[in-house]
Amino acid sequence: MSKSPRVRAPEPLRLTDPVTRLMGVGEKVAAQLARLGLAQVEDLLWHLPQRYEDRGTVRPLSESLAGESVLIEVTVSEARLLRHGKARLVAQAGDAAGQITLWQFGQYGPLLQAGQSYLLFGEVRAGSQGLEMAQPEFVTSAALDSILPVYPSTEGLQQSRLRALVTQALTVALHGLDELLPTADLPPVLRMGTLAALQRLHAPTRALGVPQPDDPARLRLALEELVAQVVALRHQRQQWVQQVAPLIAGESAHWQRLLAGLPFSPTAAQRRVLAEIRVDMAQGQPMLRLVQGDVGSGKTLVAAGAALHAIEAGYQVALMAPTALLAEQHARNFAQWLEPLGVPVHVLLGQSAAAARRGVLAALRDGVPGIVLGTQALFQEAVQFARLGLVIIDEQHRFGVHQRLALSDKGALWEGERLRPHQLVMTATPIPRTLAMSAYADLEVSIIDELPPGRSPITTTALRADRREALIDRISAVCHEGRQAYWVCPLIEDSTQIEAEAAESTAARLTEALPHLRIGLVHGRLSAAQKQAVMAQFKAHALDVLVATTVIEVGVDVPNASLMLIENADRLGLAQLHQLRGRVGRGSTASYCVLLYDEPLSDRAKARLALMRETQDGFVLAEADLAQRGPGEVLGTRQTGLAKLKVADLVRDAEWIPVARELAERWLAAQHPGIPGLLRRWVGAGQQYSQV
Ligand code: ADP
Ligand code: MG
Repeated sequence: MSKSPRVRAPEPLRLTDPVTRLMGVGEKVAAQLARLGLAQVEDLLWHLPQRYEDRGTVRPLSESLAGESVLIEVTVSEARLLRHGKARLVAQAGDAAGQITLWQFGQYGPLLQAGQSYLLFGEVRAGSQGLEMAQPEFVTSAALDSILPVYPSTEGLQQSRLRALVTQALTVALHGLDELLPTADLPPVLRMGTLAALQRLHAPTRALGVPQPDDPARLRLALEELVAQVVALRHQRQQWVQQVAPLIAGESAHWQRLLAGLPFSPTAAQRRVLAEIRVDMAQGQPMLRLVQGDVGSGKTLVAAGAALHAIEAGYQVALMAPTALLAEQHARNFAQWLEPLGVPVHVLLGQSAAAARRGVLAALRDGVPGIVLGTQALFQEAVQFARLGLVIIDEQHRFGVHQRLALSDKGALWEGERLRPHQLVMTATPIPRTLAMSAYADLEVSIIDELPPGRSPITTTALRADRREALIDRISAVCHEGRQAYWVCPLIEDSTQIEAEAAESTAARLTEALPHLRIGLVHGRLSAAQKQAVMAQFKAHALDVLVATTVIEVGVDVPNASLMLIENADRLGLAQLHQLRGRVGRGSTASYCVLLYDEPLSDRAKARLALMRETQDGFVLAEADLAQRGPGEVLGTRQTGLAKLKVADLVRDAEWIPVARELAERWLAAQHPGIPGLLRRWVGAGQQYSQV
């Protein structure tokens, strides 16, 4: 007997379905959505509009419209066809309030005519002759009552398509979206459901008007996301501190001997931070501490202090630096400091020679207490530590969280039990307080808020790039006094090749102009050994001038250098400029930094250069940087799970962070049943390990 095929009703759509189940999503659109990070139907819900087009309100022409996309109703007084140039027609038009110049492009489409009145939609700009609008859209009254969302999109993906997809997702949400937060607990202004908030933002009604950035609906979603993030960080922190860590307690004779041999004594801030680290390491649970200290504040010595305490307690220490150059420099410092004490200092880099490498690996496996310095090479499979007690990570914004985790997974074996090593993270990127509290909610933070005495301030000036020849005499004079100079050619195009070429031609020019000086060159296309050789020469003062790319950005320490010249300074962010400038001013002589720029300067670039001249305070610069570029850029996108927030913005929504924390505490304490859903919705499985 044959069964007749049963006709099955299509499964109803669910929020967790792939976007390909939506109408209008084929392979091509799916790929475009993937580029926006949109894989499931639900993802479309959290993809919020970046702005709105209000096609329902006719706006009178006025200066204040500049920069906005608006609907205008104008009468054309004059229209002229153009034969040359890109535009096809230019028209003068106006309403009762003002005048505007309209440009039309392209071969086809209706043309504006003198004497006619039109409803037009487009972006108004302030041109040199007053207001302008390019390629206005003709609007019929039919579109009059809509406020259209405009979404972040990607090449080839039309707004109309995105709108249609979001609309479908909203329909699915009507029945499938869980309300996870008890509305009654929310601050009064934000008391609304998640679905209601989404509807307000994706499909605003004329009655309530265009949603603004501080619209309660957006804040409601942002708060929910912040609560989820806080909960996730608390969970991770709890898991972290439940682990067992090596007990590192007591005084270190090595440390006392190191101090006795130094030509200087530690600053009060260095002593305080080391004391905080020692308290952490003397607990039975793993330390997770971030040491923040501005460039030149002496983080390396603090790291050495922590390392010596661990080594004297019988453990191994690993210090990971972001570049081979820095790892080498640390290795030299540590060798100089620790070898006289009889403490083994090893180096492990990607390109270490096989024999040397085998030796280091054997020593690490044998569990001989000592320190190993290296790059990412340190957390490769083959590297095994028998007694790893402390992991130190320098300039951590360069590392992803997974790299950190991989290294700390190589814990010490102690009487058969795997111990979690203590972790110390050092960064010169000052993190504004609001961010430090939220992005690093699971890290203890120590701040070295004092520079070693005797540093003289750096005088910073800005100079138009075409006047750079004036610097030749300056360099000559500085070097004549026995000082050294850096000339930095940063990457402005995304190519180490071009960057290297710029540095090469600068070096060639300087060699010609300053034949009596010794000019060195270091860039990313040299081998690590070559780079290191040049750096060593510069450090030993066998070179007067070092032409470099941004490979010297972090950590490089040559106190005799007192002049820093930075090309393309107008294109760099404050944090990077601050890092580069921090290469000088490390001794007691007066230091100078010259920022070279090209005209025209954007307002932002102008403001950045001015701020660089005004202040040397890393925290002030970081706050400004954050305001300009947002936390993702400042912290590095890979650095923290929080940088990938969907709705909330740590800067804009900073005032809600304390509220989110309080709510998170309350719901955690009550073991609120919405918590797992909250984590699934906002944090996701992929970020389990962030911040550990
Ligand atoms: P950073 O915090 O930028 O990593 P470093 O650790 O490289 O700074 O230290 C910068 C310079 O200051 C080094 O030459 C270091 O030897 C020196 N230094 C560190 N601590 C002191 C101190 N307490 N007094 C004087 N010089 C110090
Ligand atoms: Mg450093």
